[in-house]
Amino acid sequence: VKLILASVCAFLAVRWTAPRFNEESLRGVRVLVTGASTGIGEQMAYHYARFGAQIIITARREKVLQQVAEECLTLGAQKALYIAADMSSESEPNKVVEFALEELGGLDYLVLNHIGPSPFSMWEGDVDHTKWLMQVNFFSYIQMAWKAMASLEQNKGSLVIVSSLLGKMSSPFVAPYTSTKYALNGFFGVLQHELAMKKSNVSVSLCTLGLIDTESAMAKVKDITTIPPYPTKDAALRIIQTGATRQLELFYPWFTQIVTLSKDWFEPKTFSKKTPTE
Ligand code: NDP
Repeated sequence: VKLILASVCAFLAVRWTAPRFNEESLRGVRVLVTGASTGIGEQMAYHYARFGAQIIITARREKVLQQVAEECLTLGAQKALYIAADMSSESEPNKVVEFALEELGGLDYLVLNHIGPSPFSMWEGDVDHTKWLMQVNFFSYIQMAWKAMASLEQNKGSLVIVSSLLGKMSSPFVAPYTSTKYALNGFFGVLQHELAMKKSNVSVSLCTLGLIDTESAMAKVKDITTIPPYPTKDAALRIIQTGATRQLELFYPWFTQIVTLSKDWFEPKTFSKKTPTE
């Protein structure tokens, strides 16, 4: 009880002392958002567009990206370009950043959000899939972060990493996905320390999300869990605000922070009597 009270107080203190978000600060900023053809990434692109940013979006499906970019222009983006790329390739992550640097003349925000599809099922020994997913969900992130670092440094820029509660606690049916999110939290957590030691201009925001009602997430868990999902549009806005105010961490919804603090109190067990059919 004491720990829960302490965490609620700490949460409220952080909330009250957090820098205020000024949407004007995003007018004209140069942003690259990955995984922006659907879900949270698509909604982030629309928010940045409403704030008048210059946006580059990427994912694999060119036709869908084209439609999202057109909508961004309608909503008020100063610029909205797209580049189709597959992050499972070792060369395409770098090409995407090169494209953004060339087209926008630099970057103020690099928002890494994409994830590759992964089965929601018990792990049955598929090591190759786990390696593939590591490239998509983790190695491509560190490649892109490094490629963009000099420009972010020059522009007092921000790296925004979209992670998950499943990168901080273990739960059944998502072993490969969870591994990639733990890797992100570990790597970029270290980077936060090292950039601070170097007195770098670059901020790194690590975003821990609970269940969000994107189509892909809902398709996987809707018959399995009774956990209420949170709205995609709101999650997207909170991620953008966290990056814009250069905060180290976001927990959305707020109670995910308490879950991360109390997770070790419970024995491993399945969270549902049902198992996925996949
Ligand atoms: P979606 O599945 O809706 O979107 C994934 C995006 O990644 C799409 O734009 C997809 O586009 C792109 N993508 C998939 N494979 C590749 C690939 N090989 N190369 C490049 N791009 C690819 O995901 P969400 O919006 O639900 O999730 C967004 C982020 O939020 C993720 O980092 C996720 O881990 C995190 N999160 C989400 C939660 C949720 O409940 N929704 C909970 C916790 C965290 P395309 O198919 O065109 O390539």
